[in-house]
Amino acid sequence: MIIDAHTHLNTNQIFWNYKKYLENFGKIWWKILVNAWANNEYNEKWIQIAKEFIKDFPWLTVKTAIWRHPCDIPHNESDFLPLLDKLEKLYEENKEHIVAIGECGIDLHFPENPTVEVQQTALKLQAELARKLSLPLMIHSRDGFRETMEVLKDFSDLKIYFHARGYWKKELEECEKNFPNLRVGCTNVIEYPSAEKIREAIRNIRTAKILTETDAPFLPPQTMRGQQNEPAYVTYVYEKLCEILNIQQNELEKIIEWNTKTLYNI
Ligand SMILES: [Zn+2]
Repeated sequence: MIIDAHTHLNTNQIFWNYKKYLENFGKIWWKILVNAWANNEYNEKWIQIAKEFIKDFPWLTVKTAIWRHPCDIPHNESDFLPLLDKLEKLYEENKEHIVAIGECGIDLHFPENPTVEVQQTALKLQAELARKLSLPLMIHSRDGFRETMEVLKDFSDLKIYFHARGYWKKELEECEKNFPNLRVGCTNVIEYPSAEKIREAIRNIRTAKILTETDAPFLPPQTMRGQQNEPAYVTYVYEKLCEILNIQQNELEKIIEWNTKTLYNI
């Protein structure tokens, strides 16, 4: 069982040809893929993917996560509430396809992003929605670990998935301490020569917390740097993880399957 726990077939770069990417992914035996929602435009596209995959790719499990990336939330807090209502309605209408709230979180990388206060309010509202709907929270956190934790400390009862996580050992230890239902996503970044501290952090956490993901079309395997990533390349993540954790592929597959299914309830 091969799993891509976080991808974006609904982005402009790959949506136009998503069937090809699903087909490529489908060539690997038994698989699950979860599309993350990041902005309004992605929304209708995942619904299209979700509806068509059942027809065209019945051997795949394709699910989705809903909400907004922190770089794409409204700059004005008063615009959140109507958005939340809309999301809840979307969930009620498409329950069978939706397995998480995300990706959401804090991103302080770009100066033009909404302020940290606005981002924290948005994250808190999403965490409350996740709690209300009993869904896991898929977190994007870049250059704002402290600010992310300030909000999440009140939500330790939730299942929290730090996607494409690039934080180091000490921070992961803090996450493990705070969130009993933690998951940490490993992407192809674990192969990159500059990622030694990330590899060290992965060696240090319990394997029961690890997920595999591509974040495609971003973060391609090391041998394809500069090119577009796709869900099928999650196999490179499995390969590298076996090496880092010093375990066999079939053992790793079982662990990842359990970690993913218990997170998404699938
Ligand atoms: Zn993503």
